[in-house]
Amino acid sequence: KSFEEAQLRSIIGENVTKSGYKVPTPIQKVSIPVIADGRDLMACAQTGSGKTAAFLLPILSKLLDDPQDLEIGKPQAVIVSPTRELAIQIFSEARKFGFDSYLKISIVYGGTSFKHQNECITKGCHVLIATPGRLLDFVERTFITFDDTRFVVLDEADRMLDMGFSESMRKFMFHSTMRPEHQTLMFSATFPEEIQRLAGEFLKDYVFVTI
Ligand code: AMP
Repeated sequence: KSFEEAQLRSIIGENVTKSGYKVPTPIQKVSIPVIADGRDLMACAQTGSGKTAAFLLPILSKLLDDPQDLEIGKPQAVIVSPTRELAIQIFSEARKFGFDSYLKISIVYGGTSFKHQNECITKGCHVLIATPGRLLDFVERTFITFDDTRFVVLDEADRMLDMGFSESMRKFMFHSTMRPEHQTLMFSATFPEEIQRLAGEFLKDYVFVTI
């Protein structure tokens, strides 16, 4: 299978080519069609497997395929990552793949002032990448709501668990503003009982993929 067969939006496909990616990695081969098909996903994949592009490419492509008006503070896709470093990596991949499209991509993480991270609130963003604590800070101040959120990604869910973020994940996933129709994708390197339980709580009729 190739990236052409994945039927990504042409601008996204061009950016993939510009990135020098020639063939999809195994996790990309399996996950991209599942996500494109609208299914929830639980994927067991390690860092280095290409999991970031596996969720970014179909999400960006679908946002462009079915555009919806952008409202301030209402991200259309929310990607939660355990650490600032990982969030920054996801952000730079998202910017690369969304290059030359109208998609607005923002990031919020802890340890820095709110001021420098309010793009999503001042200008609006289609895609928001966030660490759990800072995301909930914004939510509690009602600067961010999830009324327009069509895609949710929990990346490295097992690490979030180890870092004590299970209640934060629940607060986010079950937030009163969360759009009922949303597609959820969970990625985790391991699949212990607690992750299975969270998958059961957060995902609907999901596809399980392990690489
Ligand atoms: P990740 O597992 O998402 O952290 O990705 C690991 C590394 O593989 C990153 O540096 C990506 O840029 C790179 N990568 C992801 N997918 C591909 C691909 N299909 N071909 C070549 N490199 C890739």
